[in-house]
Amino acid sequence: MNIQINQLGYTPDMTKTAVLRGCLGGEMTVRNAAGETVLTLPVTPNRVNIWEDDVAVADFSALTQPGVYTLHCGEEASYPFPVAEHPYDQCLMTLVDMFYYQRCGGEVDHRAGVHAHPACHNTLARVYGTEEIMEVSGGWHDAGDYGRYIVPAAKAVADLLLGWQWNPKAFEKTNLTNLLDEVRWELEWMLKMQRADGAVYHKVSCAKFCGMIMPEDEKEELVISPVSTTATGDFAASMAMASRFYAKVDAAFADRMKQAAVRAWDWLEHAEPMLFRNPEGVSTGGYGDRSDEDERLWAAVELALTCGDEKYLTAAAKGIAAADRTHAPLGWGDMRGYVAVEGMGLDGEIGDICRQWVVDDASRMLDRINAYGITMTERLPWGSNMNISNDGMIFYLAWKLTGEKKFRLAAEKQLHYLLGVNPVGYCYVSCYGSQPMLHPHHRPSVATGVCVPGLLSGGAASGMMDIAAKELLQGTPAGKAFVDDYRSYSTNEICVYWNSPMVALLAALMEA
Ligand SMILES: [Zn+2]
Repeated sequence: MNIQINQLGYTPDMTKTAVLRGCLGGEMTVRNAAGETVLTLPVTPNRVNIWEDDVAVADFSALTQPGVYTLHCGEEASYPFPVAEHPYDQCLMTLVDMFYYQRCGGEVDHRAGVHAHPACHNTLARVYGTEEIMEVSGGWHDAGDYGRYIVPAAKAVADLLLGWQWNPKAFEKTNLTNLLDEVRWELEWMLKMQRADGAVYHKVSCAKFCGMIMPEDEKEELVISPVSTTATGDFAASMAMASRFYAKVDAAFADRMKQAAVRAWDWLEHAEPMLFRNPEGVSTGGYGDRSDEDERLWAAVELALTCGDEKYLTAAAKGIAAADRTHAPLGWGDMRGYVAVEGMGLDGEIGDICRQWVVDDASRMLDRINAYGITMTERLPWGSNMNISNDGMIFYLAWKLTGEKKFRLAAEKQLHYLLGVNPVGYCYVSCYGSQPMLHPHHRPSVATGVCVPGLLSGGAASGMMDIAAKELLQGTPAGKAFVDDYRSYSTNEICVYWNSPMVALLAALMEA
């Protein structure tokens, strides 16, 4: 397919762009379901070479009448797509259901069909290098594997809560689970990972990755890896943040989270940096880091917002003044974006600095976007679709802050890319779109032979890091370095913290 569109469609008032490959002459027509031409547009002025293709970008935003359409240029045609008032409701519900499918330590019930399973990983876990045994069941499996890691959990929780904050109405329709109940499933597990002195264990997993089996079939000993200051900082931040969201739903739960955040902070204040490395014999996801400054700062910001104490405000103000504000990444390793986004809620000058930080980041990114609307061209990292969703969140906020349409359009382009306007022509959300991703590196999908729906693929990655990428993608330009093959963990794994920013972005853009 050489005309790439958002395969889930568009709302009537949304910007509508398509990327056309190889059909650069003349004009593009939009046809309705009866085959009648309803719009004709020139396409040549936007000609650009990217990822070894000459492409043209066509803007057909003038199409606002609900219906089902196709785009045509020369002999090429797009997949049919709708223009409708609510094209994304079902997809958002399924993106949220993903977290239910990832549940650990509880039953995934019959509604999950072939993916239903009894409680998994509910044996006691041993603290690495000791004889101490702990009960740490619950939470979500991180990704294609069954580890549970605090650092990425904090990102996932924060994104989902931001999505809820930006557009709670988007989550009124539910399928398998409700957003706040689902986030609580993770938070309850995270609380169990805190040591008596306030420090937080980095992760719990078996020592090694298992084969492509269902979670209840992984029966090796569960090992709790040592504490780290990054996990403790992220824990303090996400608990303090979450406590504000649950204050009206369950005050006692909210207070438990606030107290846990305060204890984590108290420990951090006296702790030298303890950056995580897998201990000997443990080879599951490391989520290591080069610095814990940003995690500590994010914790200060959230505690300042939740508790209002002078000491947190002072730490937040000092940290923000000194921070490198040239970018606002919403990473699992670099949390500066959460500092900026959440810092906007602080009073006075600090709030202003943070708002400027977000707008400046969005402006710089806008200067870099390519024909597909994304900010990365030369190199796409493992999980590039997370970066694209993150960028969309920042563009959305910049639009809210300034009212400038260019930021809103950029946010929408990130969504269009994920749902089909990309050089491989896939809808990167499993089981959605005309050309859905269906073979993720995801144990329950491989073990059952049936893809779990609503998983966001990591997407194109230029590093050629796994056997399938090496075999099938060698020499492929960055944006096309994707293969829908379960062996390709570097281009087609899934993660809770890749779904989470897409949930936030999609909910934000569904705002009426
Ligand atoms: Zn499990």
